Parts: sequence; C-alpha cells; structure tokens
Amino acid sequence: REELEKMVVTDHLTKLFSRSYLDEKIHKSLNEDQEGTFIMIDIDNFKMINDTFGHQIGDDVIIQVANLINANIRGSDIGARWGGEELAIYLPGVSLTSGVLIAERLVTKVFESSEPQVTISCGVSHWSKGRKDSYAALFKRADKALYVAKQTGKNKVIVQENDIVLEK
Ligand code: C2E
Ligand code: C2E
Repeated sequence: REELEKMVVTDHLTKLFSRSYLDEKIHKSLNEDQEGTFIMIDIDNFKMINDTFGHQIGDDVIIQVANLINANIRGSDIGARWGGEELAIYLPGVSLTSGVLIAERLVTKVFESSEPQVTISCGVSHWSKGRKDSYAALFKRADKALYVAKQTGKNKVIVQENDIVLEK
C-alpha cells in the first residue's frame, strides 16, 4: 500500500511530486484560504535539445533540472513534474516577493550549474488570503507570465498579478 501511494505521489522520471499530488495540495490550500505562490517552469529550447541530441539526452536534461530545483527549495515546498519538460512548484505560505526571489534563484542555479548548459523560464502567480481565487485563474496567470518570459528572451522570471505583467 505504501509503495502504491508513493507511485501516485511521485513522478517516475524525475522523482519530483506528481501533477496529481500538486493539484491536490493547491486545491486544499485554496479551500483553506492559505496564501501561496505558484511557479510554472519550462526548459528553454527543449524541442531543439530533443531533436538534436535525442530523447535519452532530453530525459537526462529534465532529470538534471528537476534535481537542481529539488536541491534548492525547502522540504516543505512542492516541486512537481507538470508534464513533458514543464515543471511546477507550489510554495505554501510564501509571499509573492519571496516566490519571485526563489524563482530567480532557480533560474540562476540552472544557468550556472547545468551540464550541458540549459536555461529555464518561469511564470509566477500568487494568491493571498481572502482572495477567493480559483486554481484555474492561478494557473492561467502563471501560464501567461511564462508565455511572456518565452516571448521576451527566455532564461528569466515573469510575474502576472492583477492583470499587470511585471518583468523582473
Ligand atoms: P533569503 O534567501 O533572501 O530569503 C528570504 C525569505 O524568502 C525567507 O525568509 C523565506 O521566507 C523565503 N524563502 C527563500 N527561499 C525559500 C525557499 O526555498 N522556500 C520557502 N518556502 N521560502 C523561501 P527567512 O526564512 O526568514 O530566511 C531569511 C534568510 O535566511 C534567507 O534570506 C537566507 O539568507 C537565509 N536562509 C534561510 N534558510 C536558508 C537555507 O536553507 N539555506 C540558505 N542558504 N539560506 C537560508
Ligand atoms: P531545506 O530547508 O530543505 O532547504 C534546501 C535548500 O533550499 C537549501 O540548501 C538552499 O539551497 C535552498 N533554500 C531554502 N531556503 C532558502 C532561503 O531562505 N534562502 C536561500 N538562498 N536558499 C534557500 P542549504 O542551504 O544547503 O541548506 C540545507 C538545509 O540546512 C536546509 O534544507 C535546512 O534544513 C538547513 N538550513 C540551512 N540554512 C538554514 C537557516 O538559515 N535556517 C534554518 N531553519 N535551516 C537552515
């Protein structure tokens, strides 16, 4: 039973949490009206990496980025595989300012430490107590911010809050 639970909460390739576990935690946090920050992460130029070096190297790159993320967030933070080369982090109880700081730390770590060098882009959204946000709205803001990060040069963090796009 424990093994089965582990399989459900863990992503097989990266050993990060699974998307369903992340979903569950965020829903719970929204229901309990807890503050939190959400980071969507995408490995830049991943299609090119896959097409040029093959899927094995592609998988290795995903694993390496996942390991760097896991080593640079707290045990109480939830790093997950969203799907493909997209990862996500849910930071329970973390303010927008700290969330951006953490995302920037990860962008820098990956830029400095990956071998072969790859970069990541991050879209950040935040919800505060009493805001009555939906998960869909939260995801939409982070995803939009990520899109802007990609459009404006990659290897960076963009925040989308209250319909204002901030480049950090
Ligand atoms: P900081 O690195 O500038 O982080 C400022 C605040 O952002 C932290 O305040 C915390 O509220 C939040 N924060 C930063 N990184 C994370 C993270 O990975 N996960 C979560 N959940 N929150 C994060 P806090 O806790 O009062 O820490 C103050 C300072 O103490 C930090 O400033 C940092 O300089 C140092 N610090 C605390 N824990 C660690 C750690 O595990 N490793 C390192 N290297 N420094 C730490
Ligand atoms: P942890 O809390 O699981 O954090 C894992 C790693 O996430 C840290 O490794 C660091 O790279 C990053 N990190 C977490 N919080 C912060 C932060 O506030 N600021 C920055 N800049 N980075 C952060 P690190 O530094 O090797 O620390 C390993 C473990 O040592 C931490 O695991 C934590 O258990 C403990 N630790 C280190 N510094 C502090 C501290 O200032 N306060 C507390 N309470 N624990 C600390």
